[in-house]
Amino acid sequence: MSKIPITIAKGDGIGPEIMDASLHILDAAGAKLEIHEIEVGEKAYLQGFETGIDPKVWETIRSTKAFLKAPITTPQGGGYKSLNVTIRTTLGLFANVRPCISYFPYIQTKHPGMDVVIVRENEEGLYTGIEYQQTPDMTQSLRLISRPGSEKIIRYAFEYAKRQGRKKVTCFAKDNIMKISDGLFRKVFDEVAAEYSDILNEFWIVDIGAAKLADSPELFDVIVMPNLYGDILSDVAAQISGSVGLVGSANIGEYGAMFEAIHGSAPKYAGENIANPSALLLASLLMLNHIGESETATLIHNAWLKTIEDGIHTKDIYNEGSSRSLVGTKEFGEAVAKNLGKNPEKLDLVSYKKQESFKKITLTEIPPQKRELVGCDVFIYAKPPLENFLDKIVKVNAGPLHLTLITNRGVQVWPEGQPETFCVDHFRLRFSAPDFKTVSYDLILQILQDLNRMGIDVIKTENLYLFDKEPGFSQAKN
Ligand code: NAD
Repeated sequence: MSKIPITIAKGDGIGPEIMDASLHILDAAGAKLEIHEIEVGEKAYLQGFETGIDPKVWETIRSTKAFLKAPITTPQGGGYKSLNVTIRTTLGLFANVRPCISYFPYIQTKHPGMDVVIVRENEEGLYTGIEYQQTPDMTQSLRLISRPGSEKIIRYAFEYAKRQGRKKVTCFAKDNIMKISDGLFRKVFDEVAAEYSDILNEFWIVDIGAAKLADSPELFDVIVMPNLYGDILSDVAAQISGSVGLVGSANIGEYGAMFEAIHGSAPKYAGENIANPSALLLASLLMLNHIGESETATLIHNAWLKTIEDGIHTKDIYNEGSSRSLVGTKEFGEAVAKNLGKNPEKLDLVSYKKQESFKKITLTEIPPQKRELVGCDVFIYAKPPLENFLDKIVKVNAGPLHLTLITNRGVQVWPEGQPETFCVDHFRLRFSAPDFKTVSYDLILQILQDLNRMGIDVIKTENLYLFDKEPGFSQAKN
């Protein structure tokens, strides 16, 4: 039978050791793989590639469609961009799937019944890398949440639950505060959830949801979240399931997929033969399943469970009570290879379901909305107090556009500000018409010209729109 081409990168730190141990097991299990090795990470960074990848190797990743990547070291200091974010966003790997399962009593955890899959949005949110320093006092990271981005990840979570026979999908977001962006994520969740009547759905505000997850993970099944929440909470979930050294992840897209351990390159363990290869091994099983080698994935997973049950443990999970022998990275790989064909006796047997090929996600067609320009927020650099420049700017107007509000870090300081409000050198001036009458962009340009003529230092503007008569901007009242 023909071999399936995959790309691998051995990475940095403990990467080469855990990759070699994983490949040893895959080879012993007879996985039919044609392996193309590329180099990414520290060496590429130090050769001057600021994203840690030589552009020449994209073609290899693109043509093989499955990429098994060991962790890499991001050099300290400025100027370097995250290789992981680059790969995920460049290749459109929008879904990050992290199964966090406990292996009690063989691996210690406070949550013996834990079996949670975190589905993290991978392409947008706070990871767009659009950041600015706007004034001496102020920096900004742009957090982008789109309808298509939200719908893709939420539909993926429900499809994943359906395929894997899981019962419930929970959404975490913070729509009580970020009413427009997280509000959209929640709205799309409610819309998509309504189409999956066989799967339960629920919503938690992320803070209390996170607390519940850390305390009672057995309450959850599949959890879908925007990027940053998913990044943080999948590490929490992995750690409380037993160890970050045990969780692999799949980054899935329409045109390819990348599989990796969730942990980093643990440089202090490099070359010591003590790292646990399990996370990368489990990631490689997600890859085997993805490329249709489900039987081999099942064979290896059960041999791995048997090894864990036998008490053959690396240092990170070794425990006097439940472990029998302390082994190195290489020896752990050899022990799993020897157990191929054996099944766990107490832990649940695993059976990978033959994966259907990736189904392109069809997005809902949204009827066109009427979009009307009704004003503009102008952000300025000005030293507090407000009285230093208020006299000038209250006089600025154009047609029906007038100054209606001034905020500092989102807090209303005019009209009717409070003396206690602490201000920095970054103010927002809102110009809008009474009853949000539609205006032309010329009027906004006129306001900007007037402010400029007065010597007001404008940093940026944000237009205010109504969408089908509903404001598409926060109302900024405290
Ligand atoms: P890390 O995950 O590499 O290590 C933190 C600690 O976790 C280690 O000191 C070790 O005690 C433990 N650990 C992690 N993996 C283990 C394993 N397989 N076996 C046993 N113990 C393990 O995090 P860090 O020290 O913050 O980061 C080190 C480097 O890794 C940094 O350069 C960081 O940028 C990079 N990193 C890479 C990735 C990736 O490539 N996907 C992810 C996270 C961090």
